[in-house]
Amino acid sequence: MARRRQLYEGKAKILFEGPEPGTLVQYFKDDATAFNAQKKGVITGKGVLNNRISEYIMMRLGEIGVPTHFVRRLNMREQLIREVEIIPLEVVVRNVAAGQMSTRLGIAEGTQLPRSIIEYYYKNDQLGDPMVAEEHITAFGWASVQDLDDIMALALRVNDFCSGLFLGVGIRLVDFKLEFGRLWDNEEMRIVVADEISPDSCRLWDVKTNEKLDKDRFRRDLGKVEEAYQEVARRLGILPEAGVRDLKGPETMQ
Ligand code: C5P
Repeated sequence: MARRRQLYEGKAKILFEGPEPGTLVQYFKDDATAFNAQKKGVITGKGVLNNRISEYIMMRLGEIGVPTHFVRRLNMREQLIREVEIIPLEVVVRNVAAGQMSTRLGIAEGTQLPRSIIEYYYKNDQLGDPMVAEEHITAFGWASVQDLDDIMALALRVNDFCSGLFLGVGIRLVDFKLEFGRLWDNEEMRIVVADEISPDSCRLWDVKTNEKLDKDRFRRDLGKVEEAYQEVARRLGILPEAGVRDLKGPETMQ
């Protein structure tokens, strides 16, 4: 394979220059971090599973008219995406109290929220992704009022759709994080869902047992981390045909 120019390396993914202008290749690593990279590890096969799971969800979202950056999956660990101008926000949607919300507000984990709540965090590792209000976002020009309107509407559509999708396979979508980007088409700009939607970025609990099937197993040292990611893929009907044995996949190609 030809060497490609690496544009960016994040904690769990690498972005390479794509084959055509306006495209990128998104490579999913097995590396896992938590608590703003204070905790580091490897979840074997995670990259392969997240590539598949994110592909599946982004495709389903595309089918209901939610625009995303996803173009197509290229191989076990890579997908072709549209190059977007990333909005420096982490948009969290919560349905059930957990994680930071429980810690911050003293609401017991597992408490159903009266309605879905959207929160915004400024995407800045050095600052530890601080929570911000809409006022900060528009005042500092990270997004316009119109952008935020679009972001909120898209986040709620993604939440409704994904809540139903996961419920159909016996999983409660407790909360999740989205990122958005601006996609330019000549003079037209559209806000699209970017990054990934996977057990790295969602809290997913088994409906019957409340067993955690997401990155909290890594964050909280609960064990059976790989198995949890596999279980999500299995329930969605998308475990790689090759099976679990081949999940390690090839090393990064650069
Ligand atoms: O930690 P917190 O409770 O705010 O996380 C809310 C949701 O956002 C969780 O599903 C978590 O996996 C996701 N998240 C993320 N990346 C971050 C922070 C949170 O994917 N940097």
